[in-house]
Amino acid sequence: MTTSEFNVGTPRHDCLVDITAEVESAVKDSGAQEGFAVVFVPHTTAAVTINENADPDVMHDVLKQLNEIVPWRQPFYQHGEGNSAAHVKSSMLGCSETVALSAGRLTLGTWQGIYFAEFDGPRSRRVIVQVVAAAAEA
Ligand code: ZN
Repeated sequence: MTTSEFNVGTPRHDCLVDITAEVESAVKDSGAQEGFAVVFVPHTTAAVTINENADPDVMHDVLKQLNEIVPWRQPFYQHGEGNSAAHVKSSMLGCSETVALSAGRLTLGTWQGIYFAEFDGPRSRRVIVQVVAAAAEA
C-alpha cells in the first residue's frame, strides 16, 4: 500500500479540475499492477467526481446544474461562514472515488476523467491517493 498526496490550485470559485494525470502518476509511482486506487479529498467544501473528459461542455453543464439545485443563498441557511452551498455540494458528490487497477493502469473508461470539484475557491487544495495492491494470487 502506498499513500501519496498532491496539491491542486483551483482557479475559480466553482470549477472542476481534471486530476487524472496526477492520479495516474501516483499509481505508476506505487508500482502496483492489480488492486485499486482511492482518491480522497480532505476538504468540506470540495469533492471528487468521475465524469466525461472529452467534451468540456459536460462539466460546464454539471456545474451549472449543481448551482441550480443548490443556490449560494437560501433564507434557511444557518451556517455562519456563509458557504453552506459549498458544503451541500461537497456532500452530494462525495470526498472519495475508488478506481480498479489493471496492468498498472487505472481502468477508467475511454471518456472518463477524475475531477477535483471546487465549490468555494479559489484555494490551494490537497488530494490524497492511496494505492492498494492486490495480494499475489496463489
Ligand atoms: Zn463553511
